[in-house]
Amino acid sequence: MLTGKHLIAGEWIGSATTYASDPAHGPSHDFAVGTSAHVDAAVEAAEEAFASFGWSTRAERAALLRRIADEIDARGDAITEIGTQETGLPDARLQGERGRTIGQMRLFAEYIEKGDYLDLRHDPALPDRAPLPRPDLHMIQRPLGPVAVFGASNFPLAFSVAGGDTAAALAAGCPVVVKGHPAHPGTGEIVAQAIDAAIKATGVHPGVFSVIQSSGTEVGTALAQHPLIRAVGFTGSLRAGRALFDLCAARREPIPFFGELGSINPMFILPQAATARGADIAAGWAGSLTIGAGQFCTNPGIAIIIDGSDADVFQSAAEAELSGMASQTMLTDGIAEAYREGVARVAGGTGATQIMGTNCDSRHAAPCLFVVSGDDWLADHRLQEEVFGPLGVVVRARDTTQMQQIARSIEGQLTCTLHMDDADRDTARALLPLLERKAGRLLANGFPTGVEVCDSMVHGGPYPASTNFGATSVGTLSIRRFLRPVCYQDIPPDLLPEKE
Ligand code: NAP
Repeated sequence: MLTGKHLIAGEWIGSATTYASDPAHGPSHDFAVGTSAHVDAAVEAAEEAFASFGWSTRAERAALLRRIADEIDARGDAITEIGTQETGLPDARLQGERGRTIGQMRLFAEYIEKGDYLDLRHDPALPDRAPLPRPDLHMIQRPLGPVAVFGASNFPLAFSVAGGDTAAALAAGCPVVVKGHPAHPGTGEIVAQAIDAAIKATGVHPGVFSVIQSSGTEVGTALAQHPLIRAVGFTGSLRAGRALFDLCAARREPIPFFGELGSINPMFILPQAATARGADIAAGWAGSLTIGAGQFCTNPGIAIIIDGSDADVFQSAAEAELSGMASQTMLTDGIAEAYREGVARVAGGTGATQIMGTNCDSRHAAPCLFVVSGDDWLADHRLQEEVFGPLGVVVRARDTTQMQQIARSIEGQLTCTLHMDDADRDTARALLPLLERKAGRLLANGFPTGVEVCDSMVHGGPYPASTNFGATSVGTLSIRRFLRPVCYQDIPPDLLPEKE
């Protein structure tokens, strides 16, 4: 079923001999490596497609999104089979993620049909107004044009070829060019086959969607710099995200770069909750920390608790839970290597003590637990950096004042969590205004892994959690990234792109 080729505007092209995937299990496959010439072809086709797709009706785009969902569903077994081989993720995880991917396509179809996202505003003409008449003014949110999407390694379906960025951009009316992630090229190709089939079935311009297989930076760099690309959606590391953000900003005509770069997602365990149910919170934390081998951007990497006997109970319970957990296969050798480096970095942090955990072989990771005092954590910035994998740090704060100091000191986060009981309300009231400035999502008595795809979700946050704190990459609000407001003054109503 795999060709190893790129899909460029409805054609499968490229010679599939230049790059072999490095799967976790099963056979390796050959894939083509994209070049800037492929980027030019895909982006020019996308620009041509925008002439019609940008003016397509919402019903036409909803039909395309629903058909994509159906075509992905129809290829479910093939996707799971290659997905497990490539990523090492279990069947159930890939089936669940497929459900989410299909669900978000259908959610966007429903959402654009309602039309609220257009934020239509109309100030009717006041021809008799003195001293000056008012013209007729319509404001409509309009699609930007071709969008580049970078597939993420850790969500081979929901944040990749047909993931949230692609769904939001297509829903808005923007053609999409995807840079495939080299960690799951086969999964990406089968999903691309589904989108290709949907495009052919619905009669949409084929330039609306392309995927370029790629390993290395040439394709990504060319996409971010291409003058016809109007925005970029990205999920991945701070290093790569920052490099691409800088490229987008340095263009002659800068474009928005929507990078979701992850965070350490601090969890504050307030005193009464710690006394009442510290061991239960520790058990929940251990589960959230290790799900998917900890390869989630919402992984709650640090737990802040007041030093003392409750902290002892919490720490011992976390250690006991994590000690019973086996090592897991990481997504790529590179990510496993980065995890080992992260463990070493934390181990070298000021005052950090490793409580449990061992290093593993090339593609596996075992949970690791560290403890550090609030003073040392505040003194050493290395302890604030994300470790992508199942690593937790217990930060033992002196008192609630130091908890507030820690809240003030943290960088931008996707999430911050409070574990609190009724008697903790005053402590929570003091922390919330601090944390609200740091994170896109605030939780009470829960765990941040498991991001709901819905209207209210915000999956973003101040830098470095994301490069654009006004945006979310999950949920229906994410469509706003690919729209811009246009005011139509005295344009005859039948010429407007959307009618009231
Ligand atoms: P990555 O290194 O950030 O790469 C993501 C994508 O960007 C890949 O397609 C990569 O291409 C491309 N890329 C990397 N550097 C680039 C550059 N300078 N210019 C243009 N394109 C560039 O992420 P990854 O491979 O998925 O994982 C590596 C690390 O990223 C992990 O260890 C983890 O720390 C972090 N990560 C974080 C999240 C999160 O949600 N926060 C998710 C995934 C990964 P090639 O791979 O083809 O070179």
